Amino acid sequence: MPALAAMKTADKQVSLYDTTLRDGTQGEGFQLSGLDKLRIAHRLDEFGVDYIEGGWPGSNPKDVEFFKAAAREDWKHARIAAFGSTRRHDLTVENDPQVQLLIDAQTPVVTIFGKSWKLHVTEVLKTTPEENFAMIRDTVRYLKEAGREAIYDAEHFFDGYKDDAEHALRTLEAAAEGGADCLVLCDTNGGTMPDEIATICEAVKERIPGVPFGIHTHDDSAVAVANAIAAVDVGAVQVQGTINGYGERTGNCNMTSVIPILQIKRGIKVVDDLSKLKELSYFVDDVSNNLHFHRAPFVGRTAFSHKGGMHVNAVQKVAHSYEHIRPEEVGNSQFILVSELSGQSNILMKAEELGLPLAKGSAEARAVLAKVKEKEKEGYSYEAAGGSLELLIRRETEHYEKPWQLKEYHCSFRQYRDGHSPVCEATVKLEVGGVAEYTAAEGHGVVNAIDKALRKALMPFYSEIEVVTLIDYKVRIVDGHAATAAKTRVQIVHTDGERTWGTVGVSDSIIEASWIALTEGIDLYLQRKRG
Ligand SMILES: [Zn+2]
Repeated sequence: MPALAAMKTADKQVSLYDTTLRDGTQGEGFQLSGLDKLRIAHRLDEFGVDYIEGGWPGSNPKDVEFFKAAAREDWKHARIAAFGSTRRHDLTVENDPQVQLLIDAQTPVVTIFGKSWKLHVTEVLKTTPEENFAMIRDTVRYLKEAGREAIYDAEHFFDGYKDDAEHALRTLEAAAEGGADCLVLCDTNGGTMPDEIATICEAVKERIPGVPFGIHTHDDSAVAVANAIAAVDVGAVQVQGTINGYGERTGNCNMTSVIPILQIKRGIKVVDDLSKLKELSYFVDDVSNNLHFHRAPFVGRTAFSHKGGMHVNAVQKVAHSYEHIRPEEVGNSQFILVSELSGQSNILMKAEELGLPLAKGSAEARAVLAKVKEKEKEGYSYEAAGGSLELLIRRETEHYEKPWQLKEYHCSFRQYRDGHSPVCEATVKLEVGGVAEYTAAEGHGVVNAIDKALRKALMPFYSEIEVVTLIDYKVRIVDGHAATAAKTRVQIVHTDGERTWGTVGVSDSIIEASWIALTEGIDLYLQRKRG
C-alpha cells in the first residue's frame, strides 16, 4: 500500500493533505467518534485525498485506537498520517514518550510541528533557538530513520518570519537537515494576507530550494483559501485543510473550496472525480451531526440557486451567464430547475454503483428521482445513509420484496420517583406470509426496546438477522426545505461484522424517525440476502 500510494501522490503537481480528523476536531461542535473517523477517512480515501491526518496519539488516547484500526484497514490511495510535535527540549527523541507514540502509530507518514517564532521558543518552550533547531532536526531525522515519510509543519511560520526572518528560516533548515520530505508553512493565527504569503513563500524557496514546501492556513481573516492558492501559485506542492473548513475559531482552509479552485480555475488535477465533492461535503456534515451550510461556495445548497421570477426556460438558456462554473462539475445542481431531469445523473451513478442500474429517462429513474426529491423536502439526507437510498431505489424498482407487514408498534417510557431505574417497553405486531407475531420487550431506552421487540418478532422467520447489530445512533433537529415545522432526523448505522450501512428516518416524532431508520437497516439486510 505505501509504495503504490506514494507513486500516485508523487505524480501530482499538488497533493491534498486532509486534517479534518485532527485540526478539524479542534472546532466547536465538531466531534467524531472512532467509527465516525473511520467512515470519514474511507470517504476521503475514495475521493482521492492523498494524505489523511488521523489524529495526535500523544495528546489524545482515543487517537491511538484510530491508528490501531486504520492499520488493519485497506486504503485505496491515501496515506495515513499521525500528528505530533518535536521532542521536548529536556529529552532525547528515543526517550520522549510523545515521539514514541508517533512511531507506535505505525503510519507510513508522520507529521510533526515545531516552533518557528522566536517568541514562542523563548517564552513558551523556555529554551534557546539553538536547542529548538536541534529538537526539530533530531525529531525529523529520527522519523526518517524509522522509515517514515516526514512532513514538517512550521507552526506560526508567517508571524515568526515577520518577527525574525532569519530565525524562522533556520528552523526550516533544521527540518531540511533532518531529511524532511516536505516543509509546510503554517499561518496558525490566520492573520496573514495573500500577498504576504506569496512574498514569504518566495523567500523560503530561495533559501531552501531543494525541499518541497506546502501550506496550512486558518480562516481568521476569511482568506485561508486565498492564502493556500497564493502559496500554490508560487510553488507550494501540498495543501492542508479540512472538509467544510471545520476547525478551531473560524476554521481551517476549506477543502471543498480549495479543491475545485485548484482543479477548475488553476487547471491542476488534484482528484479524479470532482463531481463527488458535494456528496463528500454533506457526508462529513451528516456524520458529524452538523447542519449543512447552505451558502457554502461550490457545494452549498444555494451555491447555484437563482431566484425565481424569470421563466424557468429562460434561466436554463442564460444560466451560464449567472454561474462561474457548471454546478455539475462539483456534483451540485442549479436549484431553481426542479425539472424532473435535474440531479438525475447523480442518482443514476449511485444506482449503477449499487448494482441496480437505471436507464436514463426511464420511468423507473423518474420515479426514483421524484421520490428522492420528495424525501429531501421532508428533511431526508442520503449522503451518510446510503442504505436508505439503496432501499428507496429497490422499492421503486423490482428489486424489492416486502419482508413483513407491520400492523402496529407501541412503546412507552416509565420514570419512577422512588429510585427505581426507568423502564422502556415496546410491543410490535406484524405479519410474515400471513403468520402473525406479537412481541414485547424491555430495553435501555426507547430505541433499544423497539429494536429488541422487532427482532423478537422477526427471528422466527429471518434468523439470519441475528448477526446484524446497531452500532451508531444520531439524532438531530432539521428544518425541512419546505416551510414546515422542524422535524427530527435519526441516523443509524448497522453492521453484520463485514459491511456497515447507514439509514435515516425523518418524522415529527423521534420514535417514528427511529423506527424508520431502524427497520430500514434490517429490511435492507434482508433484501441484499435475497440478491
Ligand atoms: Zn492548524
